[in-house]
Amino acid sequence: MANCAIVGINWGDEGKGRMVDLLTENYDVVVRYQGGGNAGHTVINEYGKFALHLLPSGIFRKGAVNILGNGVALDPENLWTEMQAVIEKGVAITPENLKISDRASLLLPWHRDLDELEEKRLADKKYGSTKQGIAPFYSDKYQKKTVLAGELFYPEQLKAHLRDLVEWKNLTLTKVYGAAPYTMEMLEKWLDGYCEKIKPYICDTGAFLRAAQQDGKNILFEAQLGSLRDLDYGIYPYTTSSNTTAAFAPIGSGLPSAKITDVVGVVKAYSTCVGEGPFVCEMFGDEAAALREAGAEYGAKTGRPRRVGAIDLVATRYGVEVQAATEIALTKLDVLSYMDKIPVCTHYTLDGKETDTFPFPSALSGAKPVIEYFDGWKCDISGVRKWEDLPKAAKDYVTAVEKTIGCPITYVSVGPERDSIIIRK
Ligand code: GDP
Repeated sequence: MANCAIVGINWGDEGKGRMVDLLTENYDVVVRYQGGGNAGHTVINEYGKFALHLLPSGIFRKGAVNILGNGVALDPENLWTEMQAVIEKGVAITPENLKISDRASLLLPWHRDLDELEEKRLADKKYGSTKQGIAPFYSDKYQKKTVLAGELFYPEQLKAHLRDLVEWKNLTLTKVYGAAPYTMEMLEKWLDGYCEKIKPYICDTGAFLRAAQQDGKNILFEAQLGSLRDLDYGIYPYTTSSNTTAAFAPIGSGLPSAKITDVVGVVKAYSTCVGEGPFVCEMFGDEAAALREAGAEYGAKTGRPRRVGAIDLVATRYGVEVQAATEIALTKLDVLSYMDKIPVCTHYTLDGKETDTFPFPSALSGAKPVIEYFDGWKCDISGVRKWEDLPKAAKDYVTAVEKTIGCPITYVSVGPERDSIIIRK
């Protein structure tokens, strides 16, 4: 039996979706264990191009069972809409290949409203939220003020529970934000609509995972975002509200006894970041515009242009450590093919000194990148499938990154398609 987690090493959008889509071939079960609809995994395969937000990326593989674990922010409306978009392209989604944990908490209709209201209140101090209700959801989950998916099977108790929650939440909505209150009728409509639709998929996924483990099945744990967005280890407060690290997989999946033997960390060949917060390697002007265009760096969820920059080896080495990555997939190497010289951030200067240690979040805004340049290869590498066939300059770039981050790069991705990959093991 092998347990593998696929995680982001940087700020997210590293190409985890394409790696999960590739590697699911070897796994029987794929589990999403944290996060919600606030980020997108792009997958391109024989069915078309998809931006998955909540569905595990194993949904396209026949025979793979996909699980939404207890650690996710389960938004019934968004999930149902996403399921319909995938089903429309000819992919079967049934209670056999999609299982939702009865212990997953439900993202309630007011969570998205609260995200919007709070970003508006913050005005120019906003965090750059995707307004999917993730921060209000996790705050409420930890306050024990939301409901579990399994409560849908206890309708009378659930209605009483929701009545208490409406009364409590309306205090914040009306008195803090001056917004309209919710009524039980509104929530009943939500229950009878989206919640009823996803109900057939809800079950005791913990029991399913324990049985799968006992039967020696291979389990893949799929994370959202990356190390630097982890609530505890990231660039707080510009983090997400959940743990994006592999160490959280056993808890958030519903299999606390899981031992993760393999952690595939996904690193992009350059840096990108969505939203606000410190981003030491950020490029500006024409240089940024050229990289953004070459990499099509626009948010999968929001369409926002992503901030771009040189690969940041200080942040990446920290990200590798935090994830305890055992191997690395380096993605989008093909995007750098247009560059004459490739910038690499090897160190930061902070308080007049050079450092290769990732600073405490409050110190990040004072850090400046130290950039070294590597030779470009200036040719199309998107058709390369073997390491030996990469130009020397591209191999030098990959091996230099590998040496600095201290983790073997076993996959080099040269295109978004499933087979655009060089496997080095
Ligand atoms: P995720 O959230 O980590 O799955 O990443 P995203 O889906 O937001 O971003 C990755 C984007 O890059 C998607 O549009 C992918 O199709 C694309 N992509 C992934 N790997 C490669 C690659 O090696 N080369 C190119 N050109 N595009 C890639």
